[in-house]
Amino acid sequence: MDEVEVRASETFLTIRCPSCKKEWKRNRKRFERIGSKYVLTCKCSCGEVFKAIHNRRRHARKACIFNGTYLHESTMKRGKMSLKDVSLSGAGLKVHSDVPLRVGDVLIVQFNMEDEEDYVVKQGVIKNVRDNYVGIEFFEQAHDKEILGSFLRE
Ligand SMILES: [Zn+2]
Repeated sequence: MDEVEVRASETFLTIRCPSCKKEWKRNRKRFERIGSKYVLTCKCSCGEVFKAIHNRRRHARKACIFNGTYLHESTMKRGKMSLKDVSLSGAGLKVHSDVPLRVGDVLIVQFNMEDEEDYVVKQGVIKNVRDNYVGIEFFEQAHDKEILGSFLRE
């Protein structure tokens, strides 16, 4: 049976059928806890049966202060930002410019981690905006092997 990682918000987990790509939400209470993972066996209306997996650790946010820049994709405007918290699946940014940012906009963020020379570059969609604090969800979750992954394991 296929195992599919879910996308997580505070209360709901978004399940995506690996076959027809249909999405739906389930309350996290409906998932069964197995070790550090939460698992729900799903049957899609297309007939596909798969296990939805929520690995909490992947989504646990860790506080940080990493400075960098962002590129607002639709206007191609750049601004300065600092990363205030990060997980493998998203980040919270404090932005230092007045490009109007809205939920659903796409940002490419680039930042330097402590003691690392290389930049980390991630693309994500804005999930919430509060004053100059912006929460984004990465299009591609970071892997454990990336430097972001080792930072989150520390
Ligand atoms: Zn389906």
